[in-house]
Amino acid sequence: MITVQRAMKALVKHGSRAWLAARTMLGARKDRHCPACGADVAGFFRYGDERAWGCPACGASPRERLVHHLLDTSRIAAPKGGAILHMAPNEASLVARLRAKAGDYVPADLFPEIYKVAGVQRVDLMAIGEVGRFDLFYASHVMEHVPDDAAVLRNIFAALKPGGEAWLIVPLWDKPTEDGSYSMPPRERERRFGQWDHVRQYGPDFADRIRAAGFDIEIIRASDCAAGDVHRLALGEVLYRARRPSAGG
Ligand SMILES: [Zn+2]
Repeated sequence: MITVQRAMKALVKHGSRAWLAARTMLGARKDRHCPACGADVAGFFRYGDERAWGCPACGASPRERLVHHLLDTSRIAAPKGGAILHMAPNEASLVARLRAKAGDYVPADLFPEIYKVAGVQRVDLMAIGEVGRFDLFYASHVMEHVPDDAAVLRNIFAALKPGGEAWLIVPLWDKPTEDGSYSMPPRERERRFGQWDHVRQYGPDFADRIRAAGFDIEIIRASDCAAGDVHRLALGEVLYRARRPSAGG
């Protein structure tokens, strides 16, 4: 669904991208870096309210760059030879990185047909139907789309092996989470939650919802990374690292 808000965001993004390309052509110093594609860049293009959003070389977002940076610095690690369920696999650099690391890599979505990635399977998070299969579950900007997030978090927990991890990133605001539903008109969802196909807006209490499903949790904020890296790599957002406790602790 194309809305005025979306069209405006796209327009600003294209303008900012063209401006960045022109500056680069004129010899602007490439003092920023994209950990998703390895390019040195003169800056990142704007998207919505985010001034330093996209990589001009590969298009990676601040949250995509955050995950690469955390992997690069061994703050988090993908399970070598493990089983990985990657929902909404539209971050190409992470598809490649996780696929290379995994023994059993499953890219998946409720609507697999919209992806160019090879082998995307249809998975409905409301009914994953897997028990103890995965070492890692990764979903960036997915949980704000699911009808019942408590049920989905329980399903993710069940699908993980004991000791397995879920890496979750969601759009956040400072206020408590507000829930909606798919019975609301799309325009109301867009107005309240920022996008027509979002059914909630998360706040910091997202962590409580993850804990309620039985996970141990570590909250990794981009803003807690070294200040120099936050600026140079233009890192953003928060990674909720949820761990299914091992049997016996
Ligand atoms: Zn890049």
